[in-house]
Amino acid sequence: MILYIEGHSFKYELENICRLFFTFEKIEVVGKKTTTETDRKASAVRRTFDDKAELYVEFCDKGYKKEDSTTLLLDTPDFEKECERILAVMLYKLLCEFTDAEPKWGILTGVRPGKLMRRMADSEGEEAAVNYFTEKLLCSREKIDLALEASRTEESIINLSRPDSFSLYVSVPFCPTRCSYCSFVSHSIEQAKKLIDPYVNLVCKEIEYTAEIAKRLNLHLETVYIGGGTPTAISAEQLDRIMTTINGSFDLSGCREFTVEAGRPDTVTDEKLAVIKKNGATRISINPQTMSDHVLENIGRRHTAEQTISAFNMARRHGFDNINMDLIVGLPGDSYQSFCETMDKIRSLDPESVTVHTLSMKRSSRMTMGGDLPEAELGRVAEEMLRFAKSELKKSGMNPYYLYRQSKTVGNLENTGFAKTGYEGLYNIYIMDETHSILACGASAVTKLRSQGGYIERIFNYKYPYEYIDRFEEMLNRKQGIERFYEAYPIE
Ligand code: SF4
Repeated sequence: MILYIEGHSFKYELENICRLFFTFEKIEVVGKKTTTETDRKASAVRRTFDDKAELYVEFCDKGYKKEDSTTLLLDTPDFEKECERILAVMLYKLLCEFTDAEPKWGILTGVRPGKLMRRMADSEGEEAAVNYFTEKLLCSREKIDLALEASRTEESIINLSRPDSFSLYVSVPFCPTRCSYCSFVSHSIEQAKKLIDPYVNLVCKEIEYTAEIAKRLNLHLETVYIGGGTPTAISAEQLDRIMTTINGSFDLSGCREFTVEAGRPDTVTDEKLAVIKKNGATRISINPQTMSDHVLENIGRRHTAEQTISAFNMARRHGFDNINMDLIVGLPGDSYQSFCETMDKIRSLDPESVTVHTLSMKRSSRMTMGGDLPEAELGRVAEEMLRFAKSELKKSGMNPYYLYRQSKTVGNLENTGFAKTGYEGLYNIYIMDETHSILACGASAVTKLRSQGGYIERIFNYKYPYEYIDRFEEMLNRKQGIERFYEAYPIE
């Protein structure tokens, strides 16, 4: 598809609008008439005359052609932003008509709808925020209610954070095998065997180094999250080394939450659960993604639904009373019926929280869209699944508490965390809201520093374990940036 733009710089937003409808199609954005041959073309043009601008959009596909236009006075408040929004709305409407689809988030393409809702409600009141989402962004009432509900819970958790708070993230980028939809930096255990032990040694050093910095700055540790990858893919002894190092170097006395992502059920053993428990984790996540064995097979996860059930029961026996489970809608070979069965099985286990993701097809994932359904139909089924998930989880006493969106998801849908009251994943909210600094250790980890005024600076670790190992000292040096940041933006 070609997107032609003229007279403005809203390339990014308008390309995203096209992507809502043609998620997996290559979109070439051009600034002048092109000779590239394609059946599908959209144009978004702004031309200025005297005191006003003419805004024009057009969409063509083979013999099909539709257009729309309007004018906007140059002295309109927030003129640039309004032009961008109006062009997006006009293009969106043309594409809805052509594809017979109506993305439920309207023209909202940002990743944090809850945050936007909260910010608007704080400054202009909830009613004005709802009106803006409805009339200007064309969001459906269902999604607005979801954003409202999540943003209210988020707010109470955000308020727990202090000016000197931070969270610690530790990355374990190894998995038993690679899932076909995975877009993370994660190495299969078999391939990376030799790297794991040196990696664990260095990550422990980095944890100690980071703890010294946090101590010098008098920062207060709010939450800890060991994620991946699959942290339980490494041995119990290696996991113990990481967790003991965290305990030995940070002051955990005021820490509200310590999560270990157990991830793949086939990696959960009595020995590892004992290590996690002994080291003080308060929350674990066991992630089935689906309880349909044929779907698990389709996505290359070499475990069964039965293994999920036994991992969950094992965790309960070890005394874990805060267990999260992750699910994905839109997986290849899944149907509405089999998703309902998944949901029944999850509810019968009765976890404290469930995170429902929509499949995101990032460029680095090896899977192409599965199933025979066309894109719009797949989106509709995924939407039904999300609706069912929400109503069933509500019956289990869970409410939406955090919400985010990724690009290239089936049906342009969202990811939502549901939890029973008091079991919300605090770290999830802090990272998504950018409430406070996240000090991160390990390969592909990103330290995100946040000033009290909301300014964000990032320090990137090397992405792959072999780079992380080879260039460890250089990477530690980068971490001195944490102290420089707090010198420039002192905590008041
Ligand atoms: S378990 Fe998660 S991180 Fe590991 S391969 Fe699968 S999707 Fe990727």
